[in-house]
Amino acid sequence: MLAFEQIPNVIKKMPKAEIHLHLEGAFTFDFLFELVQKYGSDPELKSIDDLKKKFIFKDFPNFIKTWFWKNQFFKRPEDFEESTYKTIKNLSLQNVIYAEVFFSPWDFVPNGLKMEEITEAIISGIQKAENELPIKCGLIADIVRDHGNKDAMHRLLQTTPFLNRGIVGVGLGGNELDFPPILFKEVFLEAKKKGFRTTVHAGESAGAESIFTAVNELQAERIGHGVRAIENSDLVEYLYYKQIPLEVCITSNLKTRVFSSLNEHPFDKFFRRGLLVTVNSDDPPMFGADITDEFFLLYDKLKYSFEELRKISLNTIQVSFLSDDEKKLYSKIINDYWRDIT
Ligand SMILES: [Zn+2]
Repeated sequence: MLAFEQIPNVIKKMPKAEIHLHLEGAFTFDFLFELVQKYGSDPELKSIDDLKKKFIFKDFPNFIKTWFWKNQFFKRPEDFEESTYKTIKNLSLQNVIYAEVFFSPWDFVPNGLKMEEITEAIISGIQKAENELPIKCGLIADIVRDHGNKDAMHRLLQTTPFLNRGIVGVGLGGNELDFPPILFKEVFLEAKKKGFRTTVHAGESAGAESIFTAVNELQAERIGHGVRAIENSDLVEYLYYKQIPLEVCITSNLKTRVFSSLNEHPFDKFFRRGLLVTVNSDDPPMFGADITDEFFLLYDKLKYSFEELRKISLNTIQVSFLSDDEKKLYSKIINDYWRDIT
């Protein structure tokens, strides 16, 4: 039996996978501060601590405002390459062995950059990290629903030359309430035809119907969040029966007030019912919790056993967009670690 003080380290060292993380929300504060100094002229920001304070949000509009504020400092391809490298390195330091990360290059086109050059820079940041560290990454292009479906098809076409050259899938983040999944049915069916793996954010700011549409109409392989399925017990049973993977981000949901407390959060209910759930960090520096913190929350607050943490890590590998051989390899790394611990 391990002493309690040792536990965080065990959780820090456990091999993990993360499949719901946005690169634009996963910068390191050190690097963002470098960019602010390089391009910025904000006299209020004299230190990294000042910068961190800026990321303590009063409310959701403030979160969105800060999100766009920081985007202005990513001006050149090398900024994306370096930021990606540092983010992946940070994951590797937590023993993340595999990550699928969203990126939305189109958000930075107004900064004077082309989608293609941003994508190339991000791929090269990932390759640099993969060459140096024991981590592998797959990119998911987040088509972003906020511009409607016409833009979305164009974005899919722009993404296609990168398929299997860094990019493994397409996702759909952004404003779920105003741009419901059904608008993107054609784009997602086309993406599937082209060979992209698919995941759709649903059931975060909208309810059960959004999830149902994402699964049945868009044929999404995974659901980002999916937590508001709890509002409809038939849907919960349906997700269980079909074993649709959910990319759950507990801290993110609490910070954006999808649920007002951990008690109300449905992760535990889903897990106990046998839904295929994973835990993820979404936007770690924005929400103040990385993937290690998410696993520690399960252990510390929800009293999950090591066996359950192992199960959730294996779920993540199982529902990832890796090949079967790779899944076997990463599952073995996870199992070997826990065999030595328990
Ligand atoms: Zn997300």
